[in-house]
Amino acid sequence: MNRTSIHICAIFLGLVLLSCNRTNQQQRTGTSDAATAAAPGNNSAIINQTVNAPALVYAKQEIPVLCYHRIADDKKGEYALRPATFTSHMKILSDSGYHTISPAQLYDYLVYNKELPDKPVMITFDDSRVEHSLIAAPLLEKFGFRGVFFIMTITYNKKNYMTTEQIAQLAMAGHAVGLHSWDHTMVIKYREDADWQKQVAEPKKKLEKIAGKAVEYWAYPNGVYDHKGAEELSKYFKLSFTLATKRDSLYPLQTIRRMIVPEWTPQGLLQSMHRTFGKKI
Ligand SMILES: [Zn+2]
Repeated sequence: MNRTSIHICAIFLGLVLLSCNRTNQQQRTGTSDAATAAAPGNNSAIINQTVNAPALVYAKQEIPVLCYHRIADDKKGEYALRPATFTSHMKILSDSGYHTISPAQLYDYLVYNKELPDKPVMITFDDSRVEHSLIAAPLLEKFGFRGVFFIMTITYNKKNYMTTEQIAQLAMAGHAVGLHSWDHTMVIKYREDADWQKQVAEPKKKLEKIAGKAVEYWAYPNGVYDHKGAEELSKYFKLSFTLATKRDSLYPLQTIRRMIVPEWTPQGLLQSMHRTFGKKI
């Protein structure tokens, strides 16, 4: 065997070993490379990393995700709570040793089995209310927490809603900014391509310009979704958030459950978290 043949043999052997190793790993973990290409927002650094198939994502321990709306003393609105109550919620989470996690951390946990801090919780806010910037964000920051703010973009600069500058400040302070549609029309009503453009594609682009970063997370208006909608949203977002409804087993990343938090006592909040998401966390 001459020198060139030895060289070719060595390369061939290397490829065979590499291939066997990857197949074994996939059999052991139920992961696949194919799903990597389907996940939006991937970059070349993680392109060859194995990812959990939907069944594995679905089987993982759910992480508590809280969903706040209006925070005001007059408590108008179905899901409103008083600022003092919101403060007591953040305090008991902090005192109980909870750590807020970002949607990026949740995605990495679900898809790549990355570790999360002890007692993880995600705190989200819907509907772009101005008090999210004036009351919620400063309080979160005081406790060393960060939140996720889902914006419906029709409200930019309107009375009682956040200005584009306030949204940009949230992103700069390390909070995540996600999309909550253009005008709160439910996903099950998007029938034509024009609806998807108006409610998802165009507002996503505009919000990215305002936030100065990619918008990779979505909250369903009214928490309502269907299988087709979840499938379509997987082309735009890494994660989509529902309310406390059943998840789609084929699109678990696009149907992450959240719990609406109204005017509860701090102890009531912890009890509801355990009831909804399990006691392990
Ligand atoms: Zn909403």
